[in-house]
Amino acid sequence: MKTTYGLRLDVIETCRAMNARGVNTGKAGNVSVRVNEGYLITPSGLAYDAMVPAHICQMNMNGESAGPLAPSSEWRFHHDIFAVRADVQAIVHTHSTNAAALSTHGRGIPAFHYMVAVAGGRDIACAPYATFGSQALSDGAVKALRERKACLLAHHGVIATGASLHEALDLACEVEQLATMYLAALRIGEPPVLSNVEMDRVLDKFKTYGQQPEVEVAL
Ligand SMILES: [Zn+2]
Repeated sequence: MKTTYGLRLDVIETCRAMNARGVNTGKAGNVSVRVNEGYLITPSGLAYDAMVPAHICQMNMNGESAGPLAPSSEWRFHHDIFAVRADVQAIVHTHSTNAAALSTHGRGIPAFHYMVAVAGGRDIACAPYATFGSQALSDGAVKALRERKACLLAHHGVIATGASLHEALDLACEVEQLATMYLAALRIGEPPVLSNVEMDRVLDKFKTYGQQPEVEVAL
């Protein structure tokens, strides 16, 4: 079990990694992880390179923040997702270029590629536009995330969740890659999509994908 200090370091590392991996620029995105009775979240308006563990805000589930800095202006959807999704331990929100571009058309990502199943279902939804930080945006995000681990936000960006910060960041990168491929496919028309039967088969395979039998390795 990580200490709160260790998790604060992980939040900072995740912020820097989302910029290094090209899914966010500047300080547009924000990151959170569950801790104790609430969660840790990035502060508002602070450059990731300038962040130290004491800057990370601790929030409780009443929406109250502890720490020297105000929490991210988008803390509300982090709060509401943690409140209703026991499976979510960490949230990464980015303004990645191609997912944001797709979201400006109010479009999610259909099953044009089997990897769409990485977000937990047959498609990735796009929540309707609402002002950043608003309850309306949060309500739309929670709905778009129903039975999914990621969604787009219209005219805005991406929310990716996971059982860890690593998982949430990897998913944010995957969604950006899918958005990039979908936009490329759209250049010659709306691509055909995989059937529900096929997507359900993929979803089933994903349940065990990557699980290796335990073997003794001679070093
Ligand atoms: Zn945002």
